[in-house]
Amino acid sequence: MKATKKYNFYAGPAILPESVLHQAASAVTNFDNMGLSILEISHRSPNFTKVMQDAQLLAKELTGAGDEFEALFLTGGASSQFFMTAMNLLNTDETAAYINTGTWSTKAIKEAKLFGNIVLAASSEDDGYRYIPKQLSNLGNAKYLHYTSNNTIYGTQYHQLPDTTLPLIGDLSSDIFSRPVDLNRHAVIYAGAQKNMGPAGTTLVLVRKDMLGRVKHQIPTLLDYRTHINKGSMFNTPPVYAVYVSMLTMRWVAQQGGPEAMASHNSKKAAMLYKEIDNNPLFTGYARKEDRSKMNVTFNINDETLENAFVEACSEAGIVGIKGHRSVGGFRASIYNAMPVEGVEKLVDVMQTFSKQHGA
Ligand SMILES: *Cc1c(COP(=O)(O)O)cnc(C)c1O
Repeated sequence: MKATKKYNFYAGPAILPESVLHQAASAVTNFDNMGLSILEISHRSPNFTKVMQDAQLLAKELTGAGDEFEALFLTGGASSQFFMTAMNLLNTDETAAYINTGTWSTKAIKEAKLFGNIVLAASSEDDGYRYIPKQLSNLGNAKYLHYTSNNTIYGTQYHQLPDTTLPLIGDLSSDIFSRPVDLNRHAVIYAGAQKNMGPAGTTLVLVRKDMLGRVKHQIPTLLDYRTHINKGSMFNTPPVYAVYVSMLTMRWVAQQGGPEAMASHNSKKAAMLYKEIDNNPLFTGYARKEDRSKMNVTFNINDETLENAFVEACSEAGIVGIKGHRSVGGFRASIYNAMPVEGVEKLVDVMQTFSKQHGA
């Protein structure tokens, strides 16, 4: 029996473009017309080596990275980058500054503390991470400033890079390729694939090579960025399928017109949904207006006793994945690159009908 395709608003793993899913499915049975599945070929085969090279080229092209950057496809999730960034860039007697805009930043700070002196440049913890702090302090002798570009759980997003001349390290896990990025301001950006770039299993890291080789301590071989730079992300067996599907998704982004085109598509979708949240008397947005995310739209229903009924109404319309993160509650509609305008229209429609039915 053929199930009808749902409108997928999950935060991650998340929606992928239909055309990518079809190509990915066909490669499972016959990849590149090899008469083999992509799941059963050597990662050293020319067909896969080409996939890895294409993935690296696309990642650099879509971020405008010059030759001073290397694109790596690693394992261990974005969470491993919380420690790998500090381990590779910071000496124990050096200082790095961090901005705390939520759960993921907090985790990054905890791990970085294992490798050096970590100072807090700003935090929005005082208001439930509803905003992006603009005033920075303690940057003094910091080697870099770490920030989280889009706060997947709270629904806030940087609309301007942090105001500093320090090299930035950016966690772009939930908004990579959703808009152009000024890579020249960065030492490293990283992104777990499963939000806006592909399936779970690989993490993209773009690292500026001249930031490396300056730490005194030993780094385990697999955790040293230079190992992966030297081996083209093939030091050990890479997550073949995750890299392949990420490559297909990046190719799709390029075909759509790249991050600029994605940015206008995403702005349009976000504007539609926030407009409904602001106009509909039943709902209230979670994040402060000026810092609202165009990827994860967080909102609450004013009468909490209607929460389950709203989830039910969504579900009847084929909408899944809009329950908020367990730490925030309410609702979260993730509207990544692959979410069509039609999906957002459907959600807005359900919100309007629901509000009429419930006398608002
Ligand atoms: C999901 C997420 C992470 C964690 O990613 P993993 O790949 O599960 O380790 C880190 N940062 C942000 C911003 C995220 O959204």
